[in-house]
Amino acid sequence: MCPASMSLFSAGAASTEPLVSLLHRAFGFADFRANQEAVCQAAIDGRDVLLVMPTGAGKSLCYQLPALARGGTTLVISPLIALMEDQASKLRALGFSVARIHSGLDRETSRKACIDYLDGSLQFLFIAPERLRVPGFAAMLAKRKPSLIAIDEAHCISQWGHDFRPDYRMLGQSLPALRPAPVIALTATATPIVQDDIVNQLCLVNAARFIHGFRRKNLAIEVVEVPAPRRTASTVKLLKDPARRPAIVYAPSRDKAVALAAELSSNFPAGAYHAGLDPQHRDRVQRNFLDGKLEVVVATIAFGMGIDKADVRTVIHTALPASLESYYQEIGRAGRDGLPSRTVLMHSFADRRTHDFFYERDYPAVPVLDEIFKALTAAPRARDEVRAALDMDAEVFERALDKLAIHGGCVLDFGDNVARGHGEWKRPYSAQANQRRAQLDLLVSFAESNECRMAALVRHFGDVADGKRACGECDFCAPERCIAQRYRFADAMEQRTAQSVLKALRGGFSGSTGKLHKELFPSEAMSRDEFEELLAAMARAGFLLLEEAVFEKDGRSIPYRKVFLTRDGETVSAGELEILLKDVGGEAAPRKKGANKSTGRKVAPAPERSAGGVRGSQLWSGPVVKQPAPTAKEPVLSPADEALEKKLKAWRLDEAKKLGVPAFVVCGDRTLRQIASQRPGSLAALLTVQGIGPAKVEKFGEAICRICAG
Ligand code: ADP
Ligand code: MG
Ligand code: ZN
Repeated sequence: MCPASMSLFSAGAASTEPLVSLLHRAFGFADFRANQEAVCQAAIDGRDVLLVMPTGAGKSLCYQLPALARGGTTLVISPLIALMEDQASKLRALGFSVARIHSGLDRETSRKACIDYLDGSLQFLFIAPERLRVPGFAAMLAKRKPSLIAIDEAHCISQWGHDFRPDYRMLGQSLPALRPAPVIALTATATPIVQDDIVNQLCLVNAARFIHGFRRKNLAIEVVEVPAPRRTASTVKLLKDPARRPAIVYAPSRDKAVALAAELSSNFPAGAYHAGLDPQHRDRVQRNFLDGKLEVVVATIAFGMGIDKADVRTVIHTALPASLESYYQEIGRAGRDGLPSRTVLMHSFADRRTHDFFYERDYPAVPVLDEIFKALTAAPRARDEVRAALDMDAEVFERALDKLAIHGGCVLDFGDNVARGHGEWKRPYSAQANQRRAQLDLLVSFAESNECRMAALVRHFGDVADGKRACGECDFCAPERCIAQRYRFADAMEQRTAQSVLKALRGGFSGSTGKLHKELFPSEAMSRDEFEELLAAMARAGFLLLEEAVFEKDGRSIPYRKVFLTRDGETVSAGELEILLKDVGGEAAPRKKGANKSTGRKVAPAPERSAGGVRGSQLWSGPVVKQPAPTAKEPVLSPADEALEKKLKAWRLDEAKKLGVPAFVVCGDRTLRQIASQRPGSLAALLTVQGIGPAKVEKFGEAICRICAG
């Protein structure tokens, strides 16, 4: 069906038709989607526009409709040939006159496009940004001014964006000659810094900024610390409930995807999907998942690009994803049908180490690149010859050479010869490496933060206003409904501590959580880890605000956490102080009301499956009689236990020195005593010791178990 024809929409004629009717007639859409109309109106009125909306939200329409309404030719700049071809063919199918110019086309086609453009017979001209580098091209465009300029994937212009393209920089210089047309810049990801950068580099004038649509109301986001060895079992448990399927599970490598899929498939139909499989096999997995023959797909990031399965109920990440951007894309595949869906991100200290490892591998230090750069000559030489002369590890050499090539430090030819490039590669290379580092840091601080997950994501993508609203569904907002992490009520000692914390803050305490811990527990009666978890629980309950901060010392950035009282925290009475703490070792366990075997503490009851809605107050109002569980008793140590305790203390001191932290950060006294009395023989047993969480097991588990085993 073709709702429009060229005669109706000839280039040059502006339309005075009401927007909705134009939308209907030209595109066949019944109505505008959220925010589209306001964006279109701003562009039609001639304002510069910055539009940030998620993928699939319908950004293209926001330049296409104004293009028709304004008449004349709209110039569209797009960084990818595939994107350009896709949009151009869609517009053609609607009956518009469209041309494009990019390197994938023959000269004749490009020449014809230029002629049609200068004739004024085009409604849309798509160009790749690198065209602007071709001498005379920008001047040709300027001979007949466009009536609207759309810049798709505009984040590519910013070095701070995740997909920087140097060619996009040319835009800033070329635009003035093409004015006075309004410019509309479109992107799916732009942090506030990137937004400002886009506006500045394109010299947008008084731009109307529209940043919308990142909040996914039906997604409950859970982030949970799970040691790597336990993630398979956790995933199986989570997905055993049929209501949580269909599901997509993301695994960090091909091997792990295959192994996990095999494990899952003894419970329900599951398959692996990764780039190493042959295309027919991949197609079959994808089709079977769409048809429901497979209920779970375990995939590397290669999965889901083109997939549109509406009823995915759960998305699980069994490791930290590559970036917050990819994380958002991946969890976004859950609940496209609008029904409640859940996403679980499993992570631990070990993921950070893995990321560091890959970072260091993929971004060799500048001196390594420099060594190669200095060995290169103006005349091309065989790659292998250069490497042999340097006596460098083959893999390191290849990666470093790749980076040099990207940033112009060397030139590779098709014969695998390499010549020296320009000397200006260090700055852009360092910028790119730092950018990647920052991306990883952001991901880790997202996982470790104590705030609403959805709000944090919405803010990350640039919607600062909407990012102030809590979602009411995530592990921070609604711990009692979590499926991957079980929660328990604070015990008597924790209740007392919570009151002391409130008292200190009401009394004017200000400073870091570390300082507060020292003030309240000069003798470390509660370990720093336990204290931090209690504070996090108080923040989840709405009594405190925790803010990550950094101070600089001796040229190093040292992270710390600031603590503030909320309005609820100022007024809450001791009787109303309901706090849920992470039940250590309780993730993915079946949820029964009653005591938890491992700790003897009360656990939060199973949530109602259909329980929805946002918490009215910041207090959890679940159907639970508050009944603080007994505190674990101080163990009585035998002489042999005491000897072990001594050994553990010596080890702790060593470890603390190595890490440059106070001893209690490694392990509190009380916890050490518990370990000495229980003598855990395995990591799992160690995890049941009070004061020991997954992070501690990950970091120190093996050492502790070794000492206990004598
Ligand atoms: P984005 O560029 O934001 O990722 P697109 O512009 O490609 O998204 O649009 C995604 C899909 O939504 C397209 O198939 C488009 O036809 C459709 N779409 C856009 N606006 C509307 C609308 N008002 N009504 C129905 N479908 C729409
Ligand atoms: Mg788009
Ligand atoms: Zn939330």
